Amino acid sequence: MFAWRPFPERPGARPGAYLTVPALAAAGLRVAFTTRFGGWSAHPFDSLNLSFVSGDDPARVRANRERVLGALGMPAGAWTSGRQVHGAGVSRATRAERGAGAGDPSTTLPHVDALWTDEPGIAIAVLAADCVPVLLADPDGRRIAVVHAGWRGLVAGVVERAAEAMGRPERLRAFIGPSVGPCCYRVGEEVARAVREALSPAAVRQGAAPRLDLWLGAVVSARRAGVREIRPAALCTRCEAHRFFSHRAGARGRQGLVAAVV
Ligand SMILES: [Zn+2]
Repeated sequence: MFAWRPFPERPGARPGAYLTVPALAAAGLRVAFTTRFGGWSAHPFDSLNLSFVSGDDPARVRANRERVLGALGMPAGAWTSGRQVHGAGVSRATRAERGAGAGDPSTTLPHVDALWTDEPGIAIAVLAADCVPVLLADPDGRRIAVVHAGWRGLVAGVVERAAEAMGRPERLRAFIGPSVGPCCYRVGEEVARAVREALSPAAVRQGAAPRLDLWLGAVVSARRAGVREIRPAALCTRCEAHRFFSHRAGARGRQGLVAAVV
């Protein structure tokens, strides 16, 4: 299950903690779901913004990423990420891809919303600010995936595609990270219809306006993919906008899901 861990202290950095899964550490899988806390960025990116494309000072973004990687026991060059397009593109990260998107945004892997690896020393990352970061982990096989899943990605089947790319889904565990909850995600009828049809009628709650339950959508997707053990964090980024970057609350920064095999 999930647990909070503090970042090791660093001069000039604000204190902060990240959400992790201690049960995976014994298998050599390192995981961090980050929050706003613990970085160097100034308002409105305060403080642990991990995205270059938000308009933040790139030097601070690099320092923030290094702090997260350091907590996982990884060097700065291990960061590997893709350009997220709310699609279902999955890429396997090997030594050849290691470092893509780490320092120079132009090296970011194109059209990738999910990354997986079974090679040690590569820290795969997805960024989000309301969308669902989903971790797929196989502790016995020492394989791990990070998935960026908004409603478009879930409808496109990004979780299923990631599990399929990894293979042996019955061995995977899914962890559904902090993201906008059913309490806060009002949508129009067109989006509601797409989610009802592609995922489940239960992933849309009816009220004055339809609200999406992306957590349930991710659970449905993972189950459909053949994953048996699924754990939602059930933390809403919009309700807790003081703690998480929330696009719907006007935040411009991004938190991350960063994972590695050591
Ligand atoms: Zn909420």
